[in-house]
Amino acid sequence: MILPGATLGILGGGQLGRMLAIPARQLGYRVAVLAPEGDAPAFGVADHVIRAAFEDQEAVGRLAAISEVVTYEFENVAAETVRRIEARVPVRPGAELLAATQDRLLERALCQRAGAPVAPFREVDNREGLSLALTELGGPLRLKTARGGYDGGGQWRIRDEADAEALFRNGPPVEGRFLAEKEVNFETEVSVILCRDVYGDTRIFPLFENHHEGGILALTRCPARISAARRSEIEDLAVAFADTVGLVGTLTVELFVTARGVLVNELAPRVHNSGHLTVEACTVSQFEQHLRAVCGLPLRPAELRKPAAMVNLLGTEELRFIRLEGVESALRDPGASLHLYGKRHCRPRRKMGHLTVVGDDPDEVVSRARAHAETMRFVKGGS
Ligand code: AMP
Repeated sequence: MILPGATLGILGGGQLGRMLAIPARQLGYRVAVLAPEGDAPAFGVADHVIRAAFEDQEAVGRLAAISEVVTYEFENVAAETVRRIEARVPVRPGAELLAATQDRLLERALCQRAGAPVAPFREVDNREGLSLALTELGGPLRLKTARGGYDGGGQWRIRDEADAEALFRNGPPVEGRFLAEKEVNFETEVSVILCRDVYGDTRIFPLFENHHEGGILALTRCPARISAARRSEIEDLAVAFADTVGLVGTLTVELFVTARGVLVNELAPRVHNSGHLTVEACTVSQFEQHLRAVCGLPLRPAELRKPAAMVNLLGTEELRFIRLEGVESALRDPGASLHLYGKRHCRPRRKMGHLTVVGDDPDEVVSRARAHAETMRFVKGGS
């Protein structure tokens, strides 16, 4: 057991790292954050700030030296870096799961190992491969970069040969391999978040129902509107993944629910945007549960206390030194909690914060969250 008072190292300094650091500090851990950005949201709540590239071996060595356990808050840290830290101090979840989730093709292989159903797909390396995938699977397809895509980036909808031709007119849109996947006509998108500790003890959060806009999460509601049978199917899948990789920490599985069953879309070896409402709505937050799992502390039951909805607050334009206007309606609502990540600059689609509303009626919390978010606007502030 890594006891309170020890130092937790976090690779990555975004909002997930920040929200992880807050309960860690509450429990008396010291927090060290390594991230390249000068204004990383997690730096403001860290005891040790290491501003450096993930490839900077000296800086990574310093993080390993001061930490008793290390975790990561996003996938795009080189698995090699994580392996190097692992040689000195535990990294949870480890490099193996990280490597599998960094690459959509390896991720599909892991789904196969865990016996998890996925949409029909092909590996695509070039224009001819895309044509072949169109012929074999039938359009429309979603073409996704194997590595590095995030929040709908590195993803294209290919209906037919004309789309394929247009996308590859001047060569591939980006370097590297692709996954071409049949577009799924889903009823709902859901995610499941599970934490497993060093002893194999596992807790699953209630399922989250997610609505994306332009490939980016817009709204999460909980409970998800799906049948008990589907729910237990999804929970079993999540546990199968956790057992297959010997998970220590958090795993998020994003899925499509179709009329004929569920299909895994994506895995993340970390806390997740769809789990933000656990902070106010569940018996433990995903962040505290993750901390408990990686430190070997007892896990808490992860039950929903009240229906909840979460709306992401995204940037809509380029602004420096922002302020948030129109917060009064949310702040007057006793069930609403506003989270801003401390990002000083706003860009279109950048995740700046989120708003969670808890209440008694699952539809009403969604309307309230949407209505409050409507009144808010980022504007240019001071310096
Ligand atoms: P991803 O980056 O793979 O999570 O994709 C972002 C979003 O794009 C998903 O949450 C879906 O809303 C949509 N999407 C991705 N893949 C597919 C697919 N095969 N069929 C339909 N929608 C998809």
